[in-house]
Amino acid sequence: MPGLLDTVLEKLREIYRHLDSPALREVIERAELEEYEDKVIVRVPDEYCKFAFLKEIYPLVKRELEVSLLVLTPSEDVIFELSPKYTFKNFIVGKGNLLAVRACQVAVENLRKKSLPYNPIFIHGRVGVGKTHLLQATGNKAIEKGFKVVYRSSIDFAEEVVAAIKENSLSYLRDFYKGVDVLLIDDIQFMAGKERTQLEFFNIFNHLYQNNRLVVIASDRPPKKLRDVMDRLINRFEGGLVVELKLDEITKKAIIKEKLIIYGLPVDQNIIDYIAQNTGDNVREIEGFIAQLKAKESINLKPSRGECKKVSPEEVVKEVSTFYGIPKGKILKKTRNRKVSLIRQIAIYLTRQVCNLSLTKIGEIFGVSDHTSVLYAIRKIEKLRREDPRLGEEIEFLKTKLLEG
Ligand code: ADP
Ligand code: MG
Repeated sequence: MPGLLDTVLEKLREIYRHLDSPALREVIERAELEEYEDKVIVRVPDEYCKFAFLKEIYPLVKRELEVSLLVLTPSEDVIFELSPKYTFKNFIVGKGNLLAVRACQVAVENLRKKSLPYNPIFIHGRVGVGKTHLLQATGNKAIEKGFKVVYRSSIDFAEEVVAAIKENSLSYLRDFYKGVDVLLIDDIQFMAGKERTQLEFFNIFNHLYQNNRLVVIASDRPPKKLRDVMDRLINRFEGGLVVELKLDEITKKAIIKEKLIIYGLPVDQNIIDYIAQNTGDNVREIEGFIAQLKAKESINLKPSRGECKKVSPEEVVKEVSTFYGIPKGKILKKTRNRKVSLIRQIAIYLTRQVCNLSLTKIGEIFGVSDHTSVLYAIRKIEKLRREDPRLGEEIEFLKTKLLEG
């Protein structure tokens, strides 16, 4: 008998053959499968693929196969339950997420009291802003206090409902959910169109709500924007606290700093700014970016000039210009401004380090007529980087970025 993985693989091949859309074909081509307990995990490269897979391909697989599929992007964890990894302690709080965090904390503090200040709490926000983390932190805190907590993504919940109907165990499922103190439902948008699931959830929700049990919901959009979700449910969501989770600039930089520390990378304001400029409002993307830097750093422990990627002087100037926020034109011209002059010397130094060009050639690029001025700049930076570890780190960072980026 073929294994679970082979069955899904075969099904995907069949779907692939019948697909007209090249974009959807590509989604399948880029997906990787792995088996995890009784589920098959579909690893897709990004959020777009995940969305396309869930919307277009998932229903086709599920129409014929009785299998639990979980579609994940590279940095998503497999979270079926609560993971102790996500806590309030390691969630950085700032303007954009303060309200949501406080609401959850206050709710947990008030569990089993006469009434909850906010219930349900509906947290919405774009991908990677920390919704799952916050939901899980809330759950972990409540567990710490001895409460019964259940975390489910709406996809898992829907599958449980379908299975319970088949096995005739709906009453068991209802009792199970009605007995919890805190119910955390993630990615509610995926309940779209699943009427039976919504109905079951609605009944469970009402029971919990009436008994003053906490329900926290995460969604990629506000309640009103949910498509194919019953009005009754949307009204319930709107009756509680609806709060958007955002990533503001200051919090973003605080998160970058924290992640640099975790990864054991140099913590430097210029590096933080640089990462902030090169990433969007998505903490997962930031983590990916830093993880890449880390990987590159370890590769670079054994640099050998001959084997390195070819880097052009233009790339060096561009990178230095972005990093220090000085226009390229200024770096390429002699100047009396001390700060700009130093940055120009760093660019000269890096060009020598990564481009394998003669001193004369480098002189031409930077508009100096003799190679001794180039040599002077290189010596000066060599000396400065020994004296100033921060400068040393910045230069190492730029070098790694140029050679491996
Ligand atoms: P979402 O569910 O909104 O897509 P996640 O909760 O999965 O986002 O967050 C993505 C990653 O970013 C996780 O690893 C999470 O721990 C981290 N993260 C998000 N927000 C913060 C924050 N404020 N402080 C620390 N880590 C965060
Ligand atoms: Mg999430």
